Amino acid sequence: MDRYILSLDEGTTSARAIIFDRNSEVLGVGQYEFPQYYPKPGWVEHNPGKIWDAQLRAIKTAIERANVEPGQIAAIGITNQRETTMIWDKRGKPLHNAIVWQCRRTAEMIEEIKLEYGDVIKEKTGLIPDAYFSASKLKWLLDNVPGLREKAEKGEVLFGTVDTFLIYLLTGEHVTDYSNASRTMLFNIKKLEWDDELLEIFGIPEGVLPEVRGSSEIYGYTKKDLLGAEIPVSGDAGDQQAALFGQAAFETGMVKTTYGTGNFILANTGKMLLYSDNLLTTIAWGLKGKVSYALEGSIFITGAAVQWLRDGIKVIKRAPDTEELAASLESNEGVYFVPAFVGLGAPYWDQFARGLIIGITRGTGREHLARATLEAIAYLTRDVVEEMERLVSIKELRVDGGATANDFLMGFQADILNRRVVRPVVKETTALGAAYLAGLAVDYWESLSEIKNLWRAERVFEPKMDKETRDRLYHGWKEAVNRAMGWAKVVNT
Ligand code: ADP
Repeated sequence: MDRYILSLDEGTTSARAIIFDRNSEVLGVGQYEFPQYYPKPGWVEHNPGKIWDAQLRAIKTAIERANVEPGQIAAIGITNQRETTMIWDKRGKPLHNAIVWQCRRTAEMIEEIKLEYGDVIKEKTGLIPDAYFSASKLKWLLDNVPGLREKAEKGEVLFGTVDTFLIYLLTGEHVTDYSNASRTMLFNIKKLEWDDELLEIFGIPEGVLPEVRGSSEIYGYTKKDLLGAEIPVSGDAGDQQAALFGQAAFETGMVKTTYGTGNFILANTGKMLLYSDNLLTTIAWGLKGKVSYALEGSIFITGAAVQWLRDGIKVIKRAPDTEELAASLESNEGVYFVPAFVGLGAPYWDQFARGLIIGITRGTGREHLARATLEAIAYLTRDVVEEMERLVSIKELRVDGGATANDFLMGFQADILNRRVVRPVVKETTALGAAYLAGLAVDYWESLSEIKNLWRAERVFEPKMDKETRDRLYHGWKEAVNRAMGWAKVVNT
């Protein structure tokens, strides 16, 4: 009887489940959204029970659509929205809503802690201190949920990111993996343990923390009455790290970029723990007792700028229209668009930058806007890749996410980076990464080289642009960015 891998891809707005076969082909998908709560401006919460319901339904739908029996599932892998913070009791009952990674409620707390401990935190965790990560969210819960700290000190409270919560409900084990632990801002990525000093700074009782395990090993088996079979849960990684794995980017210097609402760029740095002032250092995964590290740069607005063309100023009907419009011009004709709607992320980190369109003449039309938007996505990506290149040499860019369907964007990306851009056949790289991790642990796949052979390029975009043009275009971009920086301060908004 054929066997399969079930991958759970728990995202920020929906929970998905995908059944893969040995050739990493997708046999069935289930996907359900869950509600977002915004209790105050800048606050974002999820209801853990609703995430669980959506995830269970997704599993059942995927199994049905793939037309397989639960007993045919060789293993389950999990990948998840990272940093989102949850607390529950030993029966698995949530003690508060989850505080989502986007939530800014602890921004002030972090500003204070940063003054004294910014350098310590960066050195120990690889992270630039921010409300984004779990530490301050967990502190907020312990300080604000009535009676929680007392319960936690008595050992009655379990903390975890969403992977940990799902594994707990599936198997009863309280565990996470290295990649997820490295986003809590409580985990020492050098010593590979929860860090006593950081626990003290954030006032976290050690008893609430999950055990940190490899990203590919059996954590436990699904409870009998849950899915109709006792299935090993044996893969766990945060979404961006899972995508890096799903792209088979196993070697140092291999990079993946996910083009979605924003862009997430990760470079595998292998055994090397490298630090940059403008990028995050994180754990890619733990495999067979060893961890691999990664450099990470996030760009907040990329595909969202295309959405703005469509829904905000309504110059296009559909996102793919940008491709034909952009290609109708020979060049950008000096028009640049810096989509700094919410400031600029890596590598600029300027929260006061604002969007700018520059170089407009009487002849400027919507095709220029479309082209400038797609070019901006590519320039922003080069900005991060250049920052990475200072520390590690980079060969090619593997890509995934919605906007990679745009051939103009991919071609221009190759040109402006002067590197090959490679688009894979299987676009579900995040879910696939978790499936690979789970499958490796139970010998469904035997080795990384077997997985490397499964990974297939659908199309390779070779750089064709001459150096002079590339340098001139990129120089224009840098000048445009300079003019966008600090704008909110100038106009005092
Ligand atoms: P997310 O998971 O962040 O919602 P997706 O991977 O679904 O994102 O990608 C969708 C994003 O990509 C949207 O912001 C959309 O504007 C953009 N997008 C989708 N298709 C295209 C296209 N053909 N050309 C340019 N942008 C696109």
